[in-house]
This record gives sequence, C-alpha cells and structure tokens, in this order.
Amino acid sequence: MAGSKCKFIFVTGGVVSSLGKGITAASIALLLRRRGYRVSMQKLDPYLNVDPGTMSPYQHGEVYVTEDGAETDLDLGHYERFAGVTCNRNSNYTAGKIYSSVLSREREGGYLGKTVQVIPHITDEIKAAVLSQVTDEVDIAITEIGGTVGDIESLPFLEALRQLSHDLGRQNVAFIHLTLIPYLSASGELKTKPSQQSSGILRSIGIIPDILICRTERSLDEEHFRKLSLFCDVPSNAVIEEKDVENSIYEVPVELAAQKLDQLILDRLSLPHLGLDMRTWEEMLEKAIHPKGRKVCIGVVGKYMGLQDSYKSIYEALRHAAIANDVPLEIRGIEAEDLESGDTSALNGVDGILVPGGFGTRGIEGKIDAVTHSRINGIPFLGICLGMQCAVIETARNLAGLTEASSSEFHPETPHPVIDLMEDQRSLTRKGGTMRLGAYSCRLEKDSRASEIYDSETISERHRHRYEFNNSYRELLAEAGMICSGLSPDGVLVEIVERPDHPWFVACQFHPEFKSGPLDPNPLFREFIRAASESSHA
Ligand code: GLN
Repeated sequence: MAGSKCKFIFVTGGVVSSLGKGITAASIALLLRRRGYRVSMQKLDPYLNVDPGTMSPYQHGEVYVTEDGAETDLDLGHYERFAGVTCNRNSNYTAGKIYSSVLSREREGGYLGKTVQVIPHITDEIKAAVLSQVTDEVDIAITEIGGTVGDIESLPFLEALRQLSHDLGRQNVAFIHLTLIPYLSASGELKTKPSQQSSGILRSIGIIPDILICRTERSLDEEHFRKLSLFCDVPSNAVIEEKDVENSIYEVPVELAAQKLDQLILDRLSLPHLGLDMRTWEEMLEKAIHPKGRKVCIGVVGKYMGLQDSYKSIYEALRHAAIANDVPLEIRGIEAEDLESGDTSALNGVDGILVPGGFGTRGIEGKIDAVTHSRINGIPFLGICLGMQCAVIETARNLAGLTEASSSEFHPETPHPVIDLMEDQRSLTRKGGTMRLGAYSCRLEKDSRASEIYDSETISERHRHRYEFNNSYRELLAEAGMICSGLSPDGVLVEIVERPDHPWFVACQFHPEFKSGPLDPNPLFREFIRAASESSHA
C-alpha cells in the first residue's frame, strides 16, 4: 500500500464541544512538523450537511475555503495557520458527504444484491476517507473527529477508527482524547469525573486513549494526575494539562511541548525524536505578547459581532498583521445595523475600518455608511468580498450620481446593478458548492497600491462569492475616483478596487484572510495595519 509507513493520530473530544480540539490538533501538527515530520490534517464532522457551505455563521461559525475550492470547517483554518499544511477537499468529511457517496453508489448498482448498512458500508467509506490523506509525502496523518464522544451521530466515526486501528496495526496509531476538567467555584475544586466518564464511553466503544489532554482553567495537582491516569486507563506521563493560555492561542504548542507531548506521541508511534526547532515560533510569540508600538484599533463592521467564530480567519489575519507591525491590536466589533440610524459614534477613534464578507440584505446600509465614513475621514479601509461590493456601491451612489445603485443580490430590480450575478451563475438552481470557490490568479495593475502591497505582478487568492463587479460601470466608477487595480488574467473580472485619492482604501473580491499565518501575514492585512498604525486618527 502506498504510504504504508504512514502513522496515524486520531483526536477525539469529550465532555463538551468548543474545547479547542482544532487548536490542539493543529499544535500537535506544528510540533511534529518542526521535528521534521511531514504531516497531513483532516477533520471528520458527524453532522448531515454535505459541507458547512450552506450553514449560517450562527450555526457553524466561519466557512473556511481551501485552495481547491472546498467549503469546510473552520478548524482547517487552524491547521493551515499553525502547521502550514495545505488542506484540500479530502481534509474535511461530514457524515452527509459520506452518506451521499454511499447512497449514490447504491443507486448506481455498486452494492447489487447486498443490504447497505452502517457497518460495514458507512464505516468503510469513513475508513477510505481517513486513508485518502495517505501519500508517499506524508509521515503522520492526523484526523480530528468533530463533536463529543457519546453523541449518537459520532458512533459510526469512532467505530471506523476502532476498526482502522486494527487494520493499520495498533502500534501505528495514537488515540488522543481531549477532555475538560471543570472548576466548580462553589466548592473551589477541579473535577475529574466528567473525564473519567468520557474516556469510559470511549472504552465501551473499544478505544483506549493513549494520551489524555485535559483542558482546564487552573493547574492540576499530583492527585488529579494520579486519578486521571488510574480511572481513564492512561499511563501517568500521558496525562497532559492544557491550561487556558493568557495572551495568544499561538502559545498552545509551546505549552504542550513543555510537557513533552510531541515526544510522547513519537514514542507511542515508535518514531525517532528528530530535533525540535521552535526558534522562529518563539520569536513570533514574543512579538505577539510584548508588542512595542502604539495600539491600533480596527473597527470590523459586520453582522455576527457577538460570535467569535464568525470572522475567525479575519480576526486571526488582523492579529498576524499586528505581530508583523509590532503593534498591540484592539478589534472593535461593530454591528452594521447599529450604524443605520446615522449615528456613527461607534466608529469614533478607530484607526482602520474593515468590512468583511457576508450574504443577504441585513446590515448592508450600515456597511455602506461605514465605507462613507472611512472615505470622507481618510481612515484606512479594507473591504473584503461583500466589503468590496459595498465600497463599489458607495462610490456609485455618492460620487457617480447613481443614487439607486446596488447589488442585484439585495435589490434585484435596481436600475444600476453595479454588482451583478456572474453569467455562469444565472442558470444555477442548486445552492451547495456552486459559488465561485477556491484559488484564482489575479493580475495587478502596474504602479497601483495593490502591486506595491503585494510586490508582485500576479497573485493568487481564494474566493467565495456569486456576485461580481459589473463591467458596464468600470469607466463611470473610474471617473468617480475608484480604479480597478486587480483583474482576472483575462481582464474580465474585477478582483481589487482602490481609491488613489485616499490615504489607504483597498477592497478585494477575494478572501485574503484564508492565506495568512502568524509567520507569514497576508500582505493586504499587513499593509492595512501598517497604514492604520500610521494614521492620525488615534
Ligand atoms: N454575497 C456576496 C456574493 O455572493 C458576497 C459573498 C462574500 O462576501 N463571501 O457575491
């Protein structure tokens, strides 16, 4: 079998969701990569949507887009940002995707004569999904299982992993279970019982975790370690504490390495301890935790401001850019609808305004007002996807005399659809996976701010949208001071607009936040934060 030397790490979670399994799995990948191993990463999600592309941010948080155009779970963003692995379509499987391929194979006659069942057909499909990561380029394949052990819908996934550990050889598999040690303030105690129970559920499924990672807000003592080892059936050196970090999620790998988690994993998998080099990571952390410059405040004007996960990659890309500029960052979430009364006081004192991507009508007018505010006051502005579309509408309405200009997404009857449906989108009726998705090249105009920012003639960034800048308005908008500085290689699609009359006003149709890491910030974000830090609006 190709890649038969590949080792596997399966990461499960217990007690509650939102434990930070994705960050933990990504931290493990980082440590193994920095010891010289080639790592792949994957997430299995037990829900029935084929992918998260049609889910609201309220349900699921951000939808992360891969280079090859898959709409995926936001944990893949952690994988790419921490570990620098490149994810693809095979990096995220949902129960819906698994069932849909089994069911279409059944209709094609692929199981003629047989009864199609969860075991073995669904479990075989899950096993094939896990093995799809394996190539000759991968030494260690990490698979994280979404949801919480004990959920009915996770059962086929856990059963598939149990079977796989036999197929692959138990010595080639490390099971890592992440669990919560809650602190009860009334009794002033940390409690290990929920972890005992969740590892008990795993054992009843036939999986004995090799390593237990305990999420906790307070340090565990000897007695906790002893109890956890005894009741959860893991060696005492394999109980790892993962305490809440104080400053930055990028501290997590360092904390885990200090407890020798990576060495424990390598021992479990009988792999040699190649040297661990964390120098550049630690230098980056030092800058993240002790920035030297003046604080920069960025107003993000969106519509899911109460939810940390809705704009995950945007927030992270801003943090990467702040690290690169050596400045402390404050992100001020501003509900677009709150600006619609005409009161823009929520924007007072911001050094830069970012309008992120989005769908639907709610909050649009507030976002357009935020664009006007930044344009008139010379505040650095970064518009992303819907944010660019709002910037185009704003110029059309307020500077080109097209007072009723809009996007046909919000106003299908607008006389001036400056943002309009792409031709190949008009006939589509299916919503799932049918947007313009994934990486596309973009040619930058010479002497534009965009080409200065990227210091390149051609770039590639990831997309997720149906609507586009309407070319019939290019000239009119140029006369109104908005130039198209990034175009598709054939010159047809407008990918970046900017205003040369403004200190820093750039908006893009793509999502630069999906290509940014703490060590390699995206140039657009980096220069946006630089401009904000130099702006006089503090
Ligand atoms: N709703 C817009 C479109 O479909 C923008 C999408 C986005 O911001 N991701 O074109």
